[in-house]
Amino acid sequence: MSVLVRTQRSTLLVSSIAVLATLLVLPLGSHHMGPTTSFVPAVLATVACFDIMSVWLLAGEYLDTGDRRMLGMTLAYLWSLLLMGGYALAFPGVVASHPPLAVTASVAPYLYVGWHAGFPVLLGAAWAPWSYLGGIEHRRRAPLLAGAVAAMSAAALLTVAACVLFARRLPVLIHGLDTSSMAKVTAPVALPLVLASLLVCTRAVRGRAGPERWSSVAILVCLCDLCLTYSSRYRYSLGWYTGRTLTVAASAVVLIAMLASFRRLKAAAEFNAAYDGLTALANRRSAYDSAAALISRARRLGTPLSVVMFDLDKFKQINDSYGHAAGDEVLRCVASTVRATVRDSDLSARLGGEEFAVVLPDADLQDARLVAERLRTQLRARTIPAIGCSVTASFGIAELQPDDVTAENLLHRADQAMYRAKALGRDQISDRPADLPAAGERTAGERTAAEPAAAEPAVPLVGAR
Ligand code: GH3
Ligand code: MG
Ligand code: MG
Repeated sequence: MSVLVRTQRSTLLVSSIAVLATLLVLPLGSHHMGPTTSFVPAVLATVACFDIMSVWLLAGEYLDTGDRRMLGMTLAYLWSLLLMGGYALAFPGVVASHPPLAVTASVAPYLYVGWHAGFPVLLGAAWAPWSYLGGIEHRRRAPLLAGAVAAMSAAALLTVAACVLFARRLPVLIHGLDTSSMAKVTAPVALPLVLASLLVCTRAVRGRAGPERWSSVAILVCLCDLCLTYSSRYRYSLGWYTGRTLTVAASAVVLIAMLASFRRLKAAAEFNAAYDGLTALANRRSAYDSAAALISRARRLGTPLSVVMFDLDKFKQINDSYGHAAGDEVLRCVASTVRATVRDSDLSARLGGEEFAVVLPDADLQDARLVAERLRTQLRARTIPAIGCSVTASFGIAELQPDDVTAENLLHRADQAMYRAKALGRDQISDRPADLPAAGERTAGERTAAEPAAAEPAVPLVGAR
């Protein structure tokens, strides 16, 4: 099952549970349950932990990738954390039995709405279509993060301060435990904002399995929490408890899912950095790195090591005659032939274009010649559907010598030998550079004109016919 389908199913499952729980509880929402002194502190502490982890995770992701949307999400979680901090101060019994700093009872509901409407709006803004304006270059990422975090913290603290200062002059949202005026005053503003954010985020989700999908779940849960709180009419009612429980549960699920999705993205990025996208063989850079490690091992153990390098013959003509897509198909088939022909412990790589290399640990020149011959034969024998015939290649082989200082020295000798094989007529194997030996002389491993393959290569040397 693809990652997209798996993520679609899990987000659908979590969203359905949240919506179903909301719909089930809504009719009984105002049923009074009685206050539990530990509930709100436990909820707030848990959500604060999740928010801190999310801020840390998203900021790290932004610094790694330079993706502005990760910065936007970081700020949304920071807002949630700071507004929740204000709410904790204002809610009776969390920090002190009476809210400090002459905070009136009405401050907590204003902060709750600011938290539950501001967070979705910021998440929606992070995923708005205009928000991706290209990556941010590496040296600008940290200063921009510091500036944005400072600005968002200032905005959140000012909002908390404004709620504290002006709550006396604004409509009173709570009378004892009765919160019905909170719905009348704030729902007409908060609900459309959260709904709009949900729509924006859902638009960004199409065909994607990344954090945007989980952001839309977080917004949906905020909406459910708001609906339950508005409909419950009383603090400590069933709807009130359910809304907050949903928020905690969803925060945990969203955080775990985001961790998993970032891990997947990182694994994919690491794979793309080390492997060739077309053939899934090691790319040039990782081939040189791995070859260096294999050479160190061979030196340490005193074992031989060889390289087979080959380049497809007249490949440009294949592209010209059958098209680039057919050329790509040929490259994929060659890679699969390589994989099927060499051992798992050998290092197979596409060095670029139509040039491949296999590093053979524990193999001397004679072994390399056998592997190269096997590859040459397999390539000639395999008809590639996209072009209706087989291809040939020219091979250069080289064995690790005591004076090979780096992997480049060894691969360079194999490369030189490969060019000799080209110069001698292609579809053959050479183990020495083009200027050795004298023109016309062939080594024991090179094919002679008497061999059938030499007379007429299996590749229709397209266009040369
Ligand atoms: P020779 O026998 O001398 O090696 O001739 P050649 O035609 O194989 O060599 P040349 O270097 O002239 O052509 C290599 C071609 O490989 C040119 C380039 O367009 C093509 N090529 C490089 N990378 C890719 C790729 O990823 N896909 C496809 N389809 N073609 C590629
Ligand atoms: Mg070629
Ligand atoms: Mg080439």
